[in-house]
Amino acid sequence: MKCENCTKTECSKKQKSDDQQNTPVEFLNSNDKNEEKSEFHKLANAKILLSDCLACDNCITSNEAVRVFQQNQNELFSVLNLNKKCDTSKHKVLAVSICPQSLPYFAAKFNLCVTEAAKRLCGFLKSLGVHYVFDTTIAADFSILESQKEFVQRYHHQNQEEHALPMFASACPGWIQYAERALSSLVTPHICTAKSPQQIMGSLIKGYFARQQNLSPEKIFHIIVAPCYDKKLETLRGDFYTPLSNSQDIDCVLTSGEVFQIMEQRKISLKETAEQDFDTLFGGAKEAELIRHDGRSSDGYLEHIFKYAAKELFDTEVKELTYKVLKNKDFQEVTLEKDGETVLRFAAAYGFRNIQNMVLKLKKGKCSYHFVEVLACPGGCLNGKGQAQTEDGKPDKALLRQMEDVYAAVPVRLPETDGHVQKLYQEWLEGMDSMKAHQSLHTKYSMEKPAATSLDIKW
Ligand code: SF4
Repeated sequence: MKCENCTKTECSKKQKSDDQQNTPVEFLNSNDKNEEKSEFHKLANAKILLSDCLACDNCITSNEAVRVFQQNQNELFSVLNLNKKCDTSKHKVLAVSICPQSLPYFAAKFNLCVTEAAKRLCGFLKSLGVHYVFDTTIAADFSILESQKEFVQRYHHQNQEEHALPMFASACPGWIQYAERALSSLVTPHICTAKSPQQIMGSLIKGYFARQQNLSPEKIFHIIVAPCYDKKLETLRGDFYTPLSNSQDIDCVLTSGEVFQIMEQRKISLKETAEQDFDTLFGGAKEAELIRHDGRSSDGYLEHIFKYAAKELFDTEVKELTYKVLKNKDFQEVTLEKDGETVLRFAAAYGFRNIQNMVLKLKKGKCSYHFVEVLACPGGCLNGKGQAQTEDGKPDKALLRQMEDVYAAVPVRLPETDGHVQKLYQEWLEGMDSMKAHQSLHTKYSMEKPAATSLDIKW
């Protein structure tokens, strides 16, 4: 059959299914049902299921597990193959957004600095046929700015609203999933309502960027490259779906390790790929400089909120934070003293043992913190299970140390000083304090009662 754009008198292309045409053998094989089943079990046993880290069965249903595992390299190659076909009605604009915590993984793997790794990764993805490559740092900017403001509001209302404080960070989907499914109304009113960077990036691409490019959202296939599998699960949340355009804000999440596998399968080293600058959300402009947020390798919510609150609430400029290690290095606290009194008490609780201790304190009414940066992975996002693991699923400590070193060398920038963010508040959200900004940048959490056994989990 001849396609409408074919220039030949007779189209010679074989009529394979859309997904199969030109798909590399290694990806086609995994489409086989038995293979998929065994792959499912292999992955589940190895490392992926959230029950792995949450030590309970409450957090992920079998249907969700299937939808999580469907997000893999096949999805990327299906779109790339469709884009090679003559039928342009099925073509998609491929956009890939990369989390800042994924870049140190590629830098460490190929012995590069983060900026060079980012540029070469961008070049690699474009050589595959990806149209746009973005950095999700801009989405984290919004998430931090909204979290800061919400913290100060909650602080002012702490005497009127029972659940105003402590406020818990909202950026880690592993923590959010656990809080909603296992702890629910005990902690969800305490979670900051600011959307995670991934959620905001989804809205930026399928909302703002689509409009800028005169594209309907469903014409864009949006992939996130992230350090963990939990971000795949996060895309199943209701607020990633826009009914009007019948479109998901994020179509697929690939872990850094899965992208590395594509390079391995194709025998490509980042050292040999051409450098390209990241795209920006503003049409032709390119992002030449790579920056990171202050703080401990996970967008630094604690640092930013602490400094902002110290200034806003106590007119105190804090330049450097002094962390006090509590039970272990993944449970630390920072305080601000004023006239001999502790006026701010923040904590970082990483990994589920520390989270459980913090939740038990809350349950007993003994949680004295104003804010807690909660992250599911011990060590934070660089230690996500989609990147800091050896091939046999063990923590790769040497790689993690390398990632921490290269990440620390990236220049820091305050979200408040990013001109693009200010421009987007005006152009996309009708101002910083508009209704649209609140609706687009905030979410709600499930308030159902926790399961009776949820706090009796054995860790
Ligand atoms: S702490 Fe771990 S699970 Fe949470 S967002 Fe970071 S990498 Fe993902």
